[in-house]
Amino acid sequence: MISNEPITKVSIVIPVFNEAESLPELIRRTTAACRTLPMDYEILLVDDGSSDDSAELMMAAAEQEENRIIAVLLNRNYGQHSAIMAGFSHVSGDLIITLDADLQNPPEEIPRLVSTAAQGYDVVGTVRQQRQDSWFRKRASRLINRLIQRTTGKAMGDYGCMLRAYRRHIIDAMLHCHERSTFIPILANTFARRATEIPVEHAEREFGDSKYSFMRLINLMYDLITCLTTTPLRMLSVFGSVIALAGFTIALLLIGLRLFLGPQWAAEGVFTLFAVLFIFIGAQFVAMGLLGEYIGRIYNDVRARPRYFIQRVVSHASTLQDKQQ
Ligand code: UDP
Ligand code: MG
Repeated sequence: MISNEPITKVSIVIPVFNEAESLPELIRRTTAACRTLPMDYEILLVDDGSSDDSAELMMAAAEQEENRIIAVLLNRNYGQHSAIMAGFSHVSGDLIITLDADLQNPPEEIPRLVSTAAQGYDVVGTVRQQRQDSWFRKRASRLINRLIQRTTGKAMGDYGCMLRAYRRHIIDAMLHCHERSTFIPILANTFARRATEIPVEHAEREFGDSKYSFMRLINLMYDLITCLTTTPLRMLSVFGSVIALAGFTIALLLIGLRLFLGPQWAAEGVFTLFAVLFIFIGAQFVAMGLLGEYIGRIYNDVRARPRYFIQRVVSHASTLQDKQQ
């Protein structure tokens, strides 16, 4: 087992965007759950540019010594995942747990996450129970899950649930990624050696509404896909090749039919036009795919993720001494 170092401190990171109504209960319940832990803890509340009293409430809570709350205030709204990343840059624990501020993820599950991580996992995800989603949402989820498994090598039953635990080295690796749009659960899985998932309860939102409008959900979806893969760019070439090939086949067919059936056939060249058109459209897509390949490589370089991530080097003590000399 690799990640079996003892956990001495747990950091809870909670992004907050206009959640003044749920904050008091959130702080009370999270603190109560953390007090049952056998180790030290801290609670980082990241204010993602709230326009209500959230920031004031957080600061007041942070000023009380017995609370062990740290308030991180961002100047404006950057989005949930950026806010969590901002929190990550200020944690001091060796196990970091993210949580939503709206109490949809019960803080009471924290001790279970900690004890699961202590069994030697780098990442502990959660799967929401009794999720009532439509057929379409379920199919889409399954497709994305399969993509995640293929790309990161780890299955993820529920990528939407942010109640997750990460070991310190995973956080450090994520902080070394320079892309602007991140989807944290997927990024974490690309650096994890051992990941697991546990089922958790999922509650309805009690106060306020979801902070995600339809457009922001679409944006989040694109963040997820681009964080995962550049394959859609390659699909352009594949699509173009298929069209061009179809055009080419039609052209061959037309030539054959023209030879055997005579010139009256083929609607006086209209079909031929289609064949030529298909070939050109296909060629255009192939060209776009080629541009896509370059863009994909530029994107990979720009986000400057670590090329590989060494979790640990094991060697006999004497070998290490030899190296140092
Ligand atoms: N959130 C945030 N910045 C945003 C949007 C959301 O920090 O721009 C926080 C929000 O306060 C909550 C969490 O992210 O703690 C999840 O948001 P929400 O519950 O609205 O998402 P949903 O549960 O609908 O997916
Ligand atoms: Mg929510």
